[in-house]
Amino acid sequence: MIHIYGPVKSRRLGLSLGISLTPHKICSLDCVYCQLGKTSVLTLNRREYIKINGVLKEFRSWLSNNPVEAKKLKFVTLSGAGEPALNTGIGKLILGIKKIAKVKVAVITNSTLIFDKNLRKDLLQADLIVPSLDAITQDVFVKIDRPVKGIIVKDIVDSLVKLREEFSGKIWLEVMIVKGINDNLKKIKKIKEAADKINPDLIQINSPVRTTAEKNVFCVSKDKLNKVKNIFGKKAQVI
Ligand code: SF4
Repeated sequence: MIHIYGPVKSRRLGLSLGISLTPHKICSLDCVYCQLGKTSVLTLNRREYIKINGVLKEFRSWLSNNPVEAKKLKFVTLSGAGEPALNTGIGKLILGIKKIAKVKVAVITNSTLIFDKNLRKDLLQADLIVPSLDAITQDVFVKIDRPVKGIIVKDIVDSLVKLREEFSGKIWLEVMIVKGINDNLKKIKKIKEAADKINPDLIQINSPVRTTAEKNVFCVSKDKLNKVKNIFGKKAQVI
């Protein structure tokens, strides 16, 4: 399998099969905490980086080679070695997966392309979208997520508000907290205000625990994570 990985059993999703929609590592961000290493192509250009017909063929073949796991499969998760929304075939893939199997589709995205109304339309077929939002001031956004030139964090918030208006599936907003970069509780209160506007179903708070793209990227203490969770309120969970 080239583009399919797993399946992995997760507490939140059950048995989930991953699909990567870009080669390693094409992304619009170069987050300091990325577990995949440094971004090799930093871009906002959308194209069919990986041919969707080939991915669907691989998915069919995985289903027929893994009949026992296929029956238990709860989710197919579009994520992988870069930003999946950069692939212009994402909508075709979601529909194709659903035609082939009775399975839910989750999309994990860094939120930077949600401004694109064609993409938002494509995502309407998904069951769950997990967009990330690590900062709402441009200086902190640039420091933690190191975006390609031209991305304005305020636009990301506005586009997530639009997504919520248009999308009837679940949205789980993910916030990564990195020690010394975006762990200031006053600024976190501002992210919470943005999250209130976006109105996700859940807010998942995370802090880097594995090897990251940069050295000296540290997680915050459990105590701090709980304070952050309390700021975000009852929809929040630490993962
Ligand atoms: S958005 Fe995801 S893949 Fe891209 S750099 Fe950040 S963590 Fe890595």
